[in-house]
Amino acid sequence: MVDAHRTFVIVGGGLAGAKAAETLREEGFTGRVILIGDERDHPYERPPLSKGYLTGDDERDSVFVHEPAWYAGADVELHLGQPAVHLDRAAKCVVLGDGTRVHYDRLLLATGAEPRRLDIPGTGLAGVHHLRRLAHADRLRGRLAALGQENGHLVIAGAGWIGLEVAAAARGYGAEVTVVEPSATPLHAVLGPELGGLFADLHREHGVRFHFGARLTGITGQDGIVQAVRTDDGEEHPAHDVLAAIGAAPRTALAEAAGLALAEGRGGGIAVDAALRTSDPDIYAAGDVAAVRYPFAGELPSGEAPRFTGDGLPEGRLRVEHWANALNSGPAAARAMLGDEVRYDRVPYFFSDQYDVGMEFSGYAPPGVYDQVVCRGDVSKREFVAFWLRDNKVLAGMNVNVWDVTEAVQRLITSGVTVDPHGLADPAVPLERLAEGDSRG
Ligand SMILES: Cc1cc2nc3c(=O)[nH]c(=O)nc-3n(C[C@H](O)[C@H](O)[C@H](O)COP(=O)(O)OP(=O)(O)OC[C@H]3O[C@@H](n4cnc5c(N)ncnc54)[C@H](O)[C@@H]3O)c2cc1C
Repeated sequence: MVDAHRTFVIVGGGLAGAKAAETLREEGFTGRVILIGDERDHPYERPPLSKGYLTGDDERDSVFVHEPAWYAGADVELHLGQPAVHLDRAAKCVVLGDGTRVHYDRLLLATGAEPRRLDIPGTGLAGVHHLRRLAHADRLRGRLAALGQENGHLVIAGAGWIGLEVAAAARGYGAEVTVVEPSATPLHAVLGPELGGLFADLHREHGVRFHFGARLTGITGQDGIVQAVRTDDGEEHPAHDVLAAIGAAPRTALAEAAGLALAEGRGGGIAVDAALRTSDPDIYAAGDVAAVRYPFAGELPSGEAPRFTGDGLPEGRLRVEHWANALNSGPAAARAMLGDEVRYDRVPYFFSDQYDVGMEFSGYAPPGVYDQVVCRGDVSKREFVAFWLRDNKVLAGMNVNVWDVTEAVQRLITSGVTVDPHGLADPAVPLERLAEGDSRG
């Protein structure tokens, strides 16, 4: 039974928003819960859009966070297909696209991110795709099937996780695939150069072509249909469809116009404290849009702590665009809204599946931050765990076709212990023991 004396509003009908609504009810909140989303679909999970849903293996029903009937059953009021266009902090209300004013006592911004666009001629042609929404995946899926039948060619701009996963799906349909990437290796911003080559080899074995060290400069076509792409080294590549997979930008417009503090530098986002509270004490942010202070390096014993320089690195705020972060930070923000003591300090965690290779990545160690990469296991067989270190402390770890090690990898990151790289590389030394500061075999 809802009593109307308090109203909590959530803007953003993605995973973070839906999980926050669920948590408010689980924690016994009896006021009104209102969820506002600009997509018409009920909140859904996005990872399948570049994996099982794109390949046709996953049913549409399987991607939704809750069944549609759950919302009414949990007394969560939905405004779907409605953008929140204005946030009036003085009046404590959100204004929707149709002019409806929704009052809040506490507000959660879970507005996520949107794909970055290519700023080149030809992006308006039919056949230029982005991948964020179910409708994007539906359209791309239809095109991949057609490309497979017609021996057609997909060009993917960007060898990040989404670009590579779509490359794998497209090869499954039999489409020709070329990936154009400015760096020298795939996944460069996450893994650095040492292990990116492994993913390039994997995709080449499945027939993907790479064009590294180049950017798209134009997409050409006739009668609105894509025919080719040009790159900045003067080359032209045949293309029938193009996917721009060049990253995502946080949807901060509402927060910014309302004067909430934004994170500076790398990734941007809405700046929040450890309880996911923004610069307005009644407004919280979670999921892809929130920039959280990254705690781990700063918590190492003083004097030893690597003070990473640069924008948004461990001394600053980090925006984590991962499923697990949306899954956990939405509920954490809901608890904070209810007045619980919350300290959100989870290690960033990500997973990906490409062909027969599955991996999990924990932590944060972009190029320029780590000074050494150590592997244990068989890299050539693609069964190993890689660690990114700085001053012999583990900043990040990735397990490839090795399972049930995530907890131990994350413990190594959060403990901040100094490890012997030889012990780390030796599968005979349990990771748990290394996390306790013991490197003996
Ligand atoms: C294709 C794809 C594959 C992915 N694969 C993986 C993976 O394998 N592993 C992994 O860890 N992560 C993956 N991710 C990332 C993961 O899906 C995101 O981190 C997660 O969706 C973030 O959830 P969110 O709720 O913060 O934001 P979103 O899912 O973006 O949801 C935000 C919602 O808010 C809506 N919205 C925004 N502004 C407004 C407004 N003003 N008014 C109303 N509504 C608004 C948006 O339209 C959207 O529906 C993938 C992402 C994509 C796109």
